[in-house]
Formats: sequence, C-alpha cells, structure tokens
Amino acid sequence: MPIENWTSRYLDELKEFRHDLHRNPELLYDVHRTAQRVAARLREAGVDEVHEGIGGTGVVGIIHGQSRNSGRMIGLRADMDALPILEATDAEWASQVPGKMHACGHDGHTTMLLGAALGLVESRAFDGDVALIFQPAEEGGAGAKAMLEDGLLKRFPIQEFYGMHNRPGLPLGAFATGAGAQMGSVDEIIITIEGRGGHAAQPHATIDPVVIAASLIQAAQSIVARTIDPLKSAVVSITQMAAGDAFNVIPQTVTLRGTVRTLDEATRDAVEAQLRMLTESIPAGFGATGSLSYLRHYPVMRNAEIGVERAVAAAGAVAGEAQVNSEMAPTLGGEDFAFMLNERPGAMIMIGNGDSAPLHHPKFDFNDDVIPWGCSYWTTLVRQRLPLG
Ligand SMILES: [Zn+2]
Ligand SMILES: [Zn+2]
Repeated sequence: MPIENWTSRYLDELKEFRHDLHRNPELLYDVHRTAQRVAARLREAGVDEVHEGIGGTGVVGIIHGQSRNSGRMIGLRADMDALPILEATDAEWASQVPGKMHACGHDGHTTMLLGAALGLVESRAFDGDVALIFQPAEEGGAGAKAMLEDGLLKRFPIQEFYGMHNRPGLPLGAFATGAGAQMGSVDEIIITIEGRGGHAAQPHATIDPVVIAASLIQAAQSIVARTIDPLKSAVVSITQMAAGDAFNVIPQTVTLRGTVRTLDEATRDAVEAQLRMLTESIPAGFGATGSLSYLRHYPVMRNAEIGVERAVAAAGAVAGEAQVNSEMAPTLGGEDFAFMLNERPGAMIMIGNGDSAPLHHPKFDFNDDVIPWGCSYWTTLVRQRLPLG
C-alpha cells in the first residue's frame, strides 16, 4: 500500500504550513512561533492533550487510539529549529529572516509529523497512545536532552522512540536505515596554547605559540592514523584558529577549536586521552603550556535492531520493500535523537529528498513531494506498532 489516501486531503494545507515555517525560520530554543503554530493546529485538530514548554519550547501532543487496552505509548519525534545560514534559494517561500534558514529540512519534519497527527486523530485506528514530540534545538543545542531532563519520560510513559530525517540524494519515495551505530558522537574541542609574546623581529626572546600550534595541529592528525584501530571510525578536525592582532607581534596565546567524531565510546575516550596528552606535551616541549577543554555534546546515535526491523516494516508497507535500504552505512554527522534512543529502543529512518542541494547548504530546500510519504510512514508505523485488537 503506497501513499495513504487521507494525505491528499491535507496536502495543500501541509505545503502551506511548511512554506510558512520556511519563511519564518527560528534558531535553537527560540522556536516560539513554530511551537505555537504547531500547538494551535494540534488543538484545532482535536489532539487529546497538547503540552507546551517542555525542555524550553518543546511541544508534545498525545492522541488516544480507538481503544487503549494495550496500555502502550510510542513516541514519534520531529525537530523544529533552523540554521544560521543566509538562504540562497529563489523559492517563493524563501526565508524572510536574513541569516536564518531551514537548511536541514526541519520545517518538513515538523510538517510531516503534524500531518500524521491530522490523520491519526481522524482515524484513531490504533490501540494505545501516540506521543507526537516536536523538539527545539537539534542543531547543536541538545533539545532532545532538554526535553528528557524536563521529564518527558516521567510525564509520558513512552516505550519506543522513532525519528525521521530527510536525505538529499536518496530518491523520492525511498527510505534508508540501519542497525547499530548510525551517526557519530559530536564533541567540541578548545585548545589554548600559552607562550610568551613579543617583538616579531626578536623571536628568540619569545615563546611563539603560533609555531607550537602548527606542530600540534599536525600531531593531532596522527591520532586517527596512529592511535585508533584502523577498523574503527574517528575524525579529528581543527576548524578554527585565533592568534595575534598585528603582523609584527608574536602573540601570547593561540586558541584552536574543532570537533571530534566517533562511532563508539571507547574510541571517543581514546581520542580525548591522546589529544589531551599532545596538548600538554607538545607545548611543554617548547617551554609553553597547553590546555584542552573537551566538550561532549551528542552521544553516538544507535538504532536498536528491533527498532530497525519495525521501521523497515512500516517503510516497506508504504514504499515497497525494494525502496527500503535496511543496511545503510553510518556517517559521522551528529543527531541529538541519540539521547532519546539511549533511553528507549527505536530507530531513526532517512526519507528520500530526491535530487537537492546537500543539508546545511544555502540552496537546500525540503522537497514538498516528500510530505505524503513521510505522513504515510508515520501512520503506518503507528498502526503496526499499536494494532487494534
Ligand atoms: Zn542539520
Ligand atoms: Zn537535521
């Protein structure tokens, strides 16, 4: 059974809704307008409970099934936040806020979950409860964690979590997922090298932190090559350098920033330990000091095997088995849905966005034709996970 018929009745409204979110992008926890629009439409549709302000600006809608004999509840999650990027599409619905845009398609994710709510509340063809979770701050703010810390699981006895993200390059109507570690841990590193500044013409009277930084950057690249098991995955990227204010002054300090990505905790620990050793020992060898601040942002995102089986069954029912890749290769991109999957079994599935600019690109746009596929996936998943007696 392909795209579900009910979606056609809401498609125009859902496209309009998506375009409105796209015109009015909001960042991190500052998704007040988006959250308010979602909550208002859920209430208007007759969703049984609508809770706002969870984890700052998160929204949770609860829909009761025709029967509730199972006593079960599953959680479907969408993200609502945009990115600090100046949009370069010429879409009619392009961002009206300079420097902010929906470049990751979260406008589409929110719209598809809202669409699913409209279908579910109408048919209620399931036994149990569905929690629709609209979270803020996926893009670096750990909104999923904030919602959990604000009592998401205490207030709503969710037993399984499912997420969905669009994927450029994956054909429209296709899905992909995989069991185990699917997305990388996301850590931030800040290295400070303290030397001794002075006149650029008298380097012997200084301890030049710029030269030390160059050595440290080179050495950091040996961590993956020479410390980590070649069959494991890790990335160490130094992405920012700050040093000096004048061409003729050797600065006192250099600050380096960057990111570390891995697919398992042991590798993550090993990279941190080695980076700490290099940060302390290399500057010391030059008579300077180095310090590392290692900030663990998102854990590795792991799909439960059983979660993947269930996601694949639902996607297969919508798109046909041939359109569902159940053995997707992992990536080292991050996803804060990891926090939810660390609490309950479930899975994140990728839904094809067709040919489009890549995620986080100024020309990216969510493909409206994905909406009925995503809505159908959600409602099929609910019927399969909470079958009527
Ligand atoms: Zn993103
Ligand atoms: Zn995203």
